[in-house]
Amino acid sequence: MSSETIFDKIINGEVPADIVYEDDISIAFKDVNPQAPIHILIIPKKPIATINDITEDDRELVGHLYVVAGRIAVQHGFAKDGYRTVMNCNQDGGQSVFHIHLHLLAGTTMGWPPFANNKPKAG
Ligand code: 5GP
Repeated sequence: MSSETIFDKIINGEVPADIVYEDDISIAFKDVNPQAPIHILIIPKKPIATINDITEDDRELVGHLYVVAGRIAVQHGFAKDGYRTVMNCNQDGGQSVFHIHLHLLAGTTMGWPPFANNKPKAG
């Protein structure tokens, strides 16, 4: 099951985006609300809503997103300094757009763990 998201509109060119990479099966563009000096989203063109919807058939496609992340890191000159990739899932993971996307964050030294200041979930 999938319904159209803003990312489908970016893929189709209906909504503009600052695209940094594109091939037949994936596209990468700058996040409109960056959480780091460099914040790029890498998405499959195939609409997969969440990590829970990834199937065995998507193995290569999902792996490809990481290949693209590494390529972008080299091309943009931050591969050696380092970066973070994150894929959020559903409410507790902080997912807001239901078309899987790999966040590629760079340009600053990031803390770990990312949830250090969060309170435990009630119940
Ligand atoms: P999520 O919260 O689902 O893991 O991440 C969704 C990301 O998509 C957010 O970081 C948000 O800023 C970004 N985003 C939402 N709408 C748009 C848009 O129209 N254009 C771009 N470039 N990014 C978007």
